[in-house]
Amino acid sequence: MARTAAFHSIKQHVYHDNTKCTEGNNIEKENLRSGTGGKTKCAHCSKLD
Ligand SMILES: [Zn+2]
Repeated sequence: MARTAAFHSIKQHVYHDNTKCTEGNNIEKENLRSGTGGKTKCAHCSKLD
């Protein structure tokens, strides 16, 4: 398991909650925000669950 607190990028329409998600890891620091941002969950993170 590599679940973490929800985070998202202001440039993406989804949020992430898995430290192994490559999309989540590629978010640049300046675009990174904590929480879901009211977005839907990233498909990749859902698969990793
Ligand atoms: Zn993700």
